[in-house]
Amino acid sequence: MPCCFHAARPSPFEHFDPGCPLNIPDSELVEFPKSSGNQWCRFHLPLNGHNGVGSPKMRWSEKGSEDFNLEIIREIERARESNKAADLSGVVFPEYNFFTLDFSFNRNWPAISFSGASFPSFDLLGNAQFSEISFDHDVTFKNAQFNGAAWFSRSKFGAASFDGARFEQGVSFRGASFSGYASFVGVTFMCAASFHETYFGGNFIFNQVSVAGKAAFSGSRSVSNDAKE
Ligand SMILES: [Zn+2]
Repeated sequence: MPCCFHAARPSPFEHFDPGCPLNIPDSELVEFPKSSGNQWCRFHLPLNGHNGVGSPKMRWSEKGSEDFNLEIIREIERARESNKAADLSGVVFPEYNFFTLDFSFNRNWPAISFSGASFPSFDLLGNAQFSEISFDHDVTFKNAQFNGAAWFSRSKFGAASFDGARFEQGVSFRGASFSGYASFVGVTFMCAASFHETYFGGNFIFNQVSVAGKAAFSGSRSVSNDAKE
């Protein structure tokens, strides 16, 4: 039985199959919770069950977490080389200690879906680092959950959706630019959010955004006439 991950993908990835796109052999699947019959690949294996019991992913070593990160990078590389979109929807990243989830060396990304992905909390110095990436194609972080700080500083986006995403510990789009539409419908910022010197070249939609911290927009620019706030 394949990995039990199942979720309809948001636009423009709605043509993707709703199941697990990663070809992980059955022998490597993990049943969680125990005796539930739910088999997960390591990418979609949750950190916690509904009853708060931690999955084996909670006990991964730092090496295990780093290897996981490299596999994600390889998936993105593979998609880029074959001119396809990368489907990393629903991927659950492991927890790191003093470790940065760093994608910033990987400069030019294919179209990519991180919809429903979960980026966990990081201790002290750790964060999710997406700075200086060129997202030349569509990218969605729809309903993604960032429990640590997230950095998108100086990244270049084509069209990007962060609809329904939740940022718990600080997010920065400082110096980032969006050449296509940028959608932040229903985003929750439980933290400071920086849009300093962010450039919006296409439509941008900030709707039903909830901000518990401070959202700063100084120096950001938009050339769009259709911008909605
Ligand atoms: Zn899976």
